Amino acid sequence: MRQVSSSVLGSSDERGSDRRIIQKALEKAVDEGKRVTKTGRVATYIPELSKADPEHVGVCIKTVTGETYSAGDWHEPFTMQSISKTISLTLALQTAGYDKVFSKVGLEPTGDSFNSIVKLETRTAHPLNPMINAGAIATASCIPGEDPFELYLDLARKVCLNKSLSINLEVYLSEKRAGMRNRSMAYWMKSENIIEGDPEDALDLYFRMCSVNVTAEDLANWGMVLANDGVDPISGERLAESWIVRIVKTFMVTCGMYDGSGEFAIKAGIPSKSGVGGGILSVVEGRMGIGVFNPSLDFKGNSVGGMHLLEHLSKSLGLHYFAGKQQ
Ligand code: GLN
Repeated sequence: MRQVSSSVLGSSDERGSDRRIIQKALEKAVDEGKRVTKTGRVATYIPELSKADPEHVGVCIKTVTGETYSAGDWHEPFTMQSISKTISLTLALQTAGYDKVFSKVGLEPTGDSFNSIVKLETRTAHPLNPMINAGAIATASCIPGEDPFELYLDLARKVCLNKSLSINLEVYLSEKRAGMRNRSMAYWMKSENIIEGDPEDALDLYFRMCSVNVTAEDLANWGMVLANDGVDPISGERLAESWIVRIVKTFMVTCGMYDGSGEFAIKAGIPSKSGVGGGILSVVEGRMGIGVFNPSLDFKGNSVGGMHLLEHLSKSLGLHYFAGKQQ
């Protein structure tokens, strides 16, 4: 398949055929995603998530030149889960600043599962990065103000270009009831003075942030804003500061797929952040945001259909950050 020109959609006479290429590639990628859904399982440790249909596969692309492409179950709602960590980190850096946030949480990938506790005690006193659960709970605890969730929801609505984003109360309550592992991490971090306030407040904020409903389109919008250095390419409005956007995208490369980040970087080469709701947020620098959905997960908590879809798309459209000939 001819690769799509790197100037997003090429010159005007290339645009029509580029559009068709992208749409066909998306449809093919959804088919590819569907082929592997049986190899994974929906999350059950948050009981409400077990109701998801593992056969749903959808994708949406938003280019920085204002085009939208979608295929499959792109309109299905699902909760952000760990994808919220990209927005909560943005908010924490914006409100509490670099020094405060990175005094609580590190900058290194862990190689362990997203909900691992083990390095909290054996390594430095703080969680290794803001993309694992412990790190995200610590990051959330840095956000100041009376109602940090309101600040979060405002920012999420802004960067996803969707004013009606809202919390899924069933998922929130389900995780609040079941989240004992996260609770143990928060209390541990309190004992180490990493969390300064009440650990229950940090947990409640974290559970709420994870429980905001989105679609693949909402994620594609946030990806597009990230791809465009924090500026909404349509309105020209800056929605996130450039230095923060760079940090978020870098974490997406090094830690976005947890202990699957290395393999995904080789196979797809697209900065991405997954969540156990089945979503993946992806950024193709300077070109597009991609939102993907398939709730069938591998044992690392990454969407199997979503990853396969993205690997396929990366090859067919030449999206790997070290583009060139791919196998
Ligand atoms: N809310 C989920 C949890 O804390 C988020 C994890 C994820 O998406 N990987 O377990």
